[in-house]
Amino acid sequence: MLTAVELTPKSLESYRAVVLPGVIEAIREDARALAGARVLHVNATSYGGGVAEILASMTPLMRDLGLNADWKVISGSDEFFGVTKAMHNALQGHPHDWTEAERALWVETNRKNADGWEEYDFVVIHDPQPAPILGLLREAGQTPGGKWLWRCHIDLTDAQPEAWDLLRPWASEYDGSIWTMRQYVRQGLPDRDLFIAPPAIDPLSPKNVPISEAEIAAVFDRYTIDGSRPMVCQVSRFDPWKDPLGVIDAFRMARETNPGLQLVLVGSLAHDDPEGQEWLQRVFDYRDHDRDIHVLTNLDGVGNHEVNAFQAASRVVIQKSTREGFGLVVSEGLWKGRPVIGGNCGGIPLQVIDGQTGYLVETAQECGMRLRQLLADPAECDQMGAAGRELVREHFLLTRYLHDYVRMFRTLAGMQPSERG
Ligand code: UDP
Repeated sequence: MLTAVELTPKSLESYRAVVLPGVIEAIREDARALAGARVLHVNATSYGGGVAEILASMTPLMRDLGLNADWKVISGSDEFFGVTKAMHNALQGHPHDWTEAERALWVETNRKNADGWEEYDFVVIHDPQPAPILGLLREAGQTPGGKWLWRCHIDLTDAQPEAWDLLRPWASEYDGSIWTMRQYVRQGLPDRDLFIAPPAIDPLSPKNVPISEAEIAAVFDRYTIDGSRPMVCQVSRFDPWKDPLGVIDAFRMARETNPGLQLVLVGSLAHDDPEGQEWLQRVFDYRDHDRDIHVLTNLDGVGNHEVNAFQAASRVVIQKSTREGFGLVVSEGLWKGRPVIGGNCGGIPLQVIDGQTGYLVETAQECGMRLRQLLADPAECDQMGAAGRELVREHFLLTRYLHDYVRMFRTLAGMQPSERG
């Protein structure tokens, strides 16, 4: 059985002050015909990582639009989440030797989660972990109603063929799929509705609202960070694809010309990410007792407010990923008016326009060089940060993504495309 996630109500109206004119009206107009529709989002975890971050805001906003929206998560053993993490990695290009037992654990856990299925008009299944649910319901002789969308947040460009072979039959059951970028779409899915809709950040989350100097100072005090010295940060799960060791290398290089520079590495330990602990240990080892490298997790009490403080107070925000579906943290940094140095991969170039909102880098060395350059030029940082904030306002705020969902539901329901586009 799936577990429902408790939600805090949200009002679309409260976004008026931060979004572009006309946005709220356009969404409401398009959503009117969907009033009362039952919508279900399903993913693997209610905490940790970008998908949980989005659903915590997206689902209440759908309710505010008059849709009957729910968010539920699957449950499973640690072994199950070990298998799904291996699948996530394999789909991002890190091969795994698949066994029949692993495949069976993945499928059987989903079968249990599909038990007691309730009907919805629109079901959005996020990522590979719960992807088999639809196929398993059909296999069991049920005919679940409604339109079903599979939302793939992963870049499948270099997916291991064996991993894609495991996933493809289940993903092929859906009425349509949603992708962050067109080039992520993998060959082999039936020719059905295919939507491109990058994720977005919630500007009203405690993580993204304006934060005062005094609040920042209080957070710095709590974590013994020196507010009188410059700081840079990366906020990411402890995961090889986020390259935390590369960030430390880049920081050390930048510190040579910026004595006193501090680095804050924040990472949450997500319930569906068993690799987190191991990578956290590697980061600690690599840090090697360096007192100017602060490694913090949710277990140290770092939540949305603290992440906000670190991103807002950073001279430069770093996201040195080597694979990245989208990278919400990039938009979070830009929204705070900070330039972002990001790995040139996945969804990062959508947000980091090289030379305008930050810099794209391939290596830790390049990252260190760009850090040196930006730290030497605060005016350039502010200019890029301001450009980044406007880019996010136009393309990567949650209202745009909400509107995308409304349009997708309308298309699936056979309604006329909206006039306002
Ligand atoms: N995040 C957080 N605390 C952490 C690490 C990450 O709140 O210690 C948040 C981060 O601010 C962002 C999300 O988790 O909102 C991560 O999303 P992203 O798309 O960047 O990466 P993913 O984890 O989905 O690969």
